[in-house]
Amino acid sequence: MSLRMKILPLFLLSLTLPLAAQDYDTRAWFKGNTHTHSLWSDGNDFPEMIFDWYRERGYNFVGMSDHNVLQEGEKWMDLESIRKRQKAVGRDAVSKAEARFGKDWLERETRGGKEGIVLKTLAECREALAKPGEFYLLPAEEMSNSGSKKPVHINVINLDRVIEPVNDDASTPRDVLRRSLIAIDEYRKQSGRPILAHLNHPNFQWAVTAEDLANVAEGAYFEIYNGHPGINHLGDATRPGDEAIWDIANTIRIAELGYPPLMGVATDDSHTYHGEDVSPGRGWVMVGAEKLDGDSLVTAMLAGRFYASSGVTLEAIRHDPDKRTLSVEITATEGVTFSTAFIGTLKGYDAAADKTGIGEVLATVKGNTATFTYSKEALYVRATITSSRKHPNPSFEGQMEQAWIQPVGWKVQ
Ligand SMILES: [Zn+2]
Ligand SMILES: [Zn+2]
Repeated sequence: MSLRMKILPLFLLSLTLPLAAQDYDTRAWFKGNTHTHSLWSDGNDFPEMIFDWYRERGYNFVGMSDHNVLQEGEKWMDLESIRKRQKAVGRDAVSKAEARFGKDWLERETRGGKEGIVLKTLAECREALAKPGEFYLLPAEEMSNSGSKKPVHINVINLDRVIEPVNDDASTPRDVLRRSLIAIDEYRKQSGRPILAHLNHPNFQWAVTAEDLANVAEGAYFEIYNGHPGINHLGDATRPGDEAIWDIANTIRIAELGYPPLMGVATDDSHTYHGEDVSPGRGWVMVGAEKLDGDSLVTAMLAGRFYASSGVTLEAIRHDPDKRTLSVEITATEGVTFSTAFIGTLKGYDAAADKTGIGEVLATVKGNTATFTYSKEALYVRATITSSRKHPNPSFEGQMEQAWIQPVGWKVQ
């Protein structure tokens, strides 16, 4: 038995081992957001209004990932609490929902002398809004764990019951991350469903480091981009941003621990829908699934057949492991230019504190197509494509539209 087999928990091989990308025609891929909040937790709109927002804008699937809850059973909210959630001036959520779905749509009920509304369940939203092959309402939970009083939030998608969060402030975030992922995997085995778990916003409250993500073998997916403006996407003077976290974690995983690299998702983490800041439409994934349902979407993502985007769309991704070439073909847009950075780490990088050579830009190619041949010394190569067009609804200053291609060319050592 090799060292790798001894180190890796067996389930990792079945749950999260992504395959190296091959040739993908990405034109018919499904667009979706796996991270969204509604009134069922700390969002400020009705779930049906949020699903409808995405559906109207051409998304194919949305995971309503409320904190530690699925939209099932009964949840009643008083009108005053619903109104208080809405910070922006404008029409209130109730009148907007009635304008969209009709006067009789909302289930009004007075309890304890307070007027309120019984929120729609996921099943009810599905009945109103699902369109086979076009729009799928994906069950999701933001499992909101806590370690040392830091948030270790993991989105679990395609599940059929709530997975209880791990709250242990006597433990480190790394330990809580590992325990949460093990609990998710136990649920996966027991349910028999394909399940995907992605670690959210590592830099939110500086909770989860690149080294944490590297060392927890069970984790293989994380948010390379999250549209919430408070998640420290760019890092700070002393702490790496999400792009650098990806490279540090991948380098340690591949070169030092014999784990496969992390795959990156982009999400909205939207909470507010009335013109406030934490709004939808900022980041998404494009998934090459055979069919538009939860099992197929998760199966495709587990196989690495997806990319992350905040505005750039691709026609094709090609990887030839024998020739060691990675190519991308970008959808042309009038008046817009693209720059593709091929990023990776070469063997012989400096593993000491200054991390020289980790996540180097190995080549930058301008144009609608970009091809790069990586050397035999590369531990992995990935690509980040940046548009000349500003993001229409930025979550940080100076944000341009981007896309992120998953790491290829890696071999577990
Ligand atoms: Zn979160
Ligand atoms: Zn969230």
